Amino acid sequence: MSVKELDQTYLAPAYARQDVVLTHGEGAELFDDQGGRLIDLGSGIAVNALGVGDQAWVQAVCAQAQLLQHASNYYYTQPQARLAKLLCARSGLKRVFFSNSGAEANECAIKTARKYADDRYGEGHHTIITLENSFHGRTLTTLSATGQAAMHRHFAPFTPGFVHVRANDLKAMRDALAQHACCAVMLELVQGEGGVNVLEKAYVRAVAALAAQMDVLLVVDEVQTGVGRTGTFYAYQQYGILPDIVTGAKGLGGGLPIGATLFGEKTAAVLTPGTHGSTFGGNPICCAGALSIVSRVDETLLEGVCQRHDFIVNELQNAKGVTGITGLGLMLGIGTAKPAADVVRQCLQSGLLVLSAKDKVRLLPPLNIPLELLAEGLDILKEVIAQ
Ligand SMILES: *Cc1c(COP(=O)(O)O)cnc(C)c1O
Repeated sequence: MSVKELDQTYLAPAYARQDVVLTHGEGAELFDDQGGRLIDLGSGIAVNALGVGDQAWVQAVCAQAQLLQHASNYYYTQPQARLAKLLCARSGLKRVFFSNSGAEANECAIKTARKYADDRYGEGHHTIITLENSFHGRTLTTLSATGQAAMHRHFAPFTPGFVHVRANDLKAMRDALAQHACCAVMLELVQGEGGVNVLEKAYVRAVAALAAQMDVLLVVDEVQTGVGRTGTFYAYQQYGILPDIVTGAKGLGGGLPIGATLFGEKTAAVLTPGTHGSTFGGNPICCAGALSIVSRVDETLLEGVCQRHDFIVNELQNAKGVTGITGLGLMLGIGTAKPAADVVRQCLQSGLLVLSAKDKVRLLPPLNIPLELLAEGLDILKEVIAQ
């Protein structure tokens, strides 16, 4: 049987896969099992932050695999401790809990917010306000946090204690905070899966001030926006706020599964022994990979992200069939006259990988994609969108 036949016979049919078998790659170029070459403007959904087969990352991961692949969290290990220090330095937050995915990082944030309020105010202050159209993960609790009714079908009952309000509507947020005994507000600053919608700065600042006033925690989900994706290390650094909790995953491990929940001053001491844990969380190989990525997402690289952003916007803003562009840095949503799903499929046929989010074409290229390759990819995209 072919790979496709094996997959279609033995895997749960949970994914609507694109018609390509990927085998290997280099940087922002991928290859399929027919020898075909593809330009990658998706990075495996913002995961391969510095592209495929990045040599410094490969060496860091292989060196750690030779030393110690796993130890359990009963013991201290070096990569985890060093990565936590680096993330605190880059974020201004104080402590980190490591897990294996974005959903788990958010699950940890939710548990921490609930315990923070329980420690201080006793039972009942458990409501978490999130936004309509948000995406926070696929576990039952992070799905409860997710403000998309379509994803809630089939899976009731949900974890109680989540309220969804309209984005950029300060009155709706103020009313919800007044009506419910809340422990947290949880936001994506750029809604990724929801269609690459950028939250307004004034709104976010007002929400942060309101939450601080009420001792309600501000949780920012940076699972997709983190690690340089939006042009700053974290997106909140463009908003003039300092969250109480920040979650990250996707690009952090450069391709290996890792989640991180960062805690500020108020939340740094909330998790105590026995209240939370993870077998694989903080795995030495994943942390070694993350160290290699995070240490290279520096000012120079971030400037490059902003340059590439400008280049893409310049190329696409007046292109035929483009109806609008949203997003920050290298997280972009392209409105198109034809359906986004058709654009994704036709780009693949022309040797280009792009993603979609709701009704938009979504671009999440490697942060260091060479400009020539980016230009080549955009030429294909423009041609497909114009047809
Ligand atoms: C992808 C994503 C998640 C879920 O991450 P997983 O690793 O798939 O569990 C959560 N929040 C945001 C903003 C995401 O983009």
